[in-house]
Amino acid sequence: MNKPYRIVMLGKQGAGKGTQSSKLAATLGIAHISTGDMLRAAAREGTEFGKLAQGYMDKGELVPDSVILGAVEERLSRRDCAEDGFVLDGFPRNLAQAEALDKMLEPEGIKLVINLDVSTEVVMDRLSSRRVCTGCGRTYSVHHPPASNWTCDDCGSEVVQRADDTPEAIGRRLAIYEEATAPLIAWYQAKGCFVTVSGEGDFDAIFEEILATVERF
Ligand code: AMP
Repeated sequence: MNKPYRIVMLGKQGAGKGTQSSKLAATLGIAHISTGDMLRAAAREGTEFGKLAQGYMDKGELVPDSVILGAVEERLSRRDCAEDGFVLDGFPRNLAQAEALDKMLEPEGIKLVINLDVSTEVVMDRLSSRRVCTGCGRTYSVHHPPASNWTCDDCGSEVVQRADDTPEAIGRRLAIYEEATAPLIAWYQAKGCFVTVSGEGDFDAIFEEILATVERF
């Protein structure tokens, strides 16, 4: 694939979309656009957009399309995305968002959708042990905590459990994934720009497969 890269990373919560997308974007020199990170940053800053989103996020429900679409369109219209491209992580989450994304990118559209496939048992375990830095968003787990007393190795901010990584919210988010997001698999498959990569196993091996897939396209 040549620039501009236009890639969507699809997968259940806890599939590893965030960490793999971030490494892929850094490797290709393009933007990593995580709608979850955008919404959490806005909620922390207390903007109107963030306040609107917070209640939905804490409950593990999708923020309404009317709230998220404008923010994504604004971000994608910036020069870095237009010239070099992007990896979208956490967007689209339903068919209406996928259709809106196609419109935003007319006439070219998305070049590649990578479906990071992980079983429900594995994501349940990953999400309940996940801990996240409140400053920079770096992800840890109870099995691999930061070096010192739950403060981030990179930025020194507090590392906590996300409000939506509780068992109730995890259950709700996975149910919403099955109902709203999983139909995107068939939708993108029909467009012929869709590849599934297993998200289980060694992180670096998964990354190499993702990179090889991008290079093949
Ligand atoms: P994530 O970090 O991708 O798991 O997103 C965290 C939360 O942000 C989700 O549970 C939703 O409440 C909200 N969110 C993130 N991306 C979207 C999206 N594309 N559409 C609606 N809500 C979203």
